Amino acid sequence: AKKLGRNRWQFYHDAMNEQTEERLRIEGALRSALERNEFVLHYQPQVDLASGRIVGMEALLRWQHPELGMVPPQRFIGLAEETGLIVPIGAWVLRTACAQAKAWNDMWELCGLAPLRVAVNLSARQFAQPDLVASIAAVLDDTGLPAACLDLELTESLFVDDVAQALDLLHQLKALGVALSIDDFGTGYSSFSSLRTFPIDVLKIDRSFVADIASDADEAAIVVSIIALAHNLKLRVIAEGVESTAQLEFLRAHGCDEMQGYHFSRPVPAEEFGKMIRSGRSL
Ligand code: C2E
Ligand code: CA
Ligand code: CA
Ligand code: CA
Repeated sequence: AKKLGRNRWQFYHDAMNEQTEERLRIEGALRSALERNEFVLHYQPQVDLASGRIVGMEALLRWQHPELGMVPPQRFIGLAEETGLIVPIGAWVLRTACAQAKAWNDMWELCGLAPLRVAVNLSARQFAQPDLVASIAAVLDDTGLPAACLDLELTESLFVDDVAQALDLLHQLKALGVALSIDDFGTGYSSFSSLRTFPIDVLKIDRSFVADIASDADEAAIVVSIIALAHNLKLRVIAEGVESTAQLEFLRAHGCDEMQGYHFSRPVPAEEFGKMIRSGRSL
């Protein structure tokens, strides 16, 4: 039994070391990724269900690794959060997305098209930075993107620690003129009180609710209720993860404002997104 115990400990010890090494390796790689400009943004269209037109896009981070290829955010965002590297990475995301949106909107204005909004994800670490509001104001100022064209996506988990402080921060962000969205609504920390308390403009229904709306009466009932709730609170509502015509038709029939999902388009590189707009693609 003693021997077994030691082997177990040894096994555990080795596993821990491996984990630590793996983390250090990824942390170093993330650091140099920022220096070497290996991060890229892909853009996924947000489509107005009534008009069928693209009205905005969510900027989604990818890591173009020289050997591993395109690394999805689930593989590195968690670690970037833990190490705090999400702060400089997030600052790069915000600046790049705003500059890109401004360049697109200038081009499309010449074609008589309405400006699009760009949605950017904010992490908990970024939210906790004392200079968050000033740095967002500086990015808007530097890039020339109107504040109304920027939509910040937040999760409700950011609000639970210190409600008063979060509320103050959100009011400062609102004062800049940006829009605030609740991402992944219905998962995790979700509560009705945050909708009542915080100055939110948009509610994004998590794709786990959208998945079965066309086949499961309970899921359908939940989504219908979320749409009604959002509208009663004068919020815009976006459904995430729309993959089929049946889901699309259901959402349209129940008055959902916008959709985002593979059914219309996956997130695509900037160049491809520009082509999609120029071609006038719609639902
Ligand atoms: P999210 O903010 O909920 O973003 C939506 C995710 O759903 C994206 O995954 C998108 O590619 C995916 N998606 C869109 N439509 C569909 C669909 O029809 N079906 C399915 N199955 N998936 C769909 P992605 O790009 O891999 O990003 C994953 C998560 O990583 C994001 O979830 C967000 O939490 C985080 N993330 C991405 N970019 C950033 C960033 O710049 N900063 C921060 N802090 N987090 C980011
Ligand atoms: Ca998001
Ligand atoms: Ca989401
Ligand atoms: Ca999600």
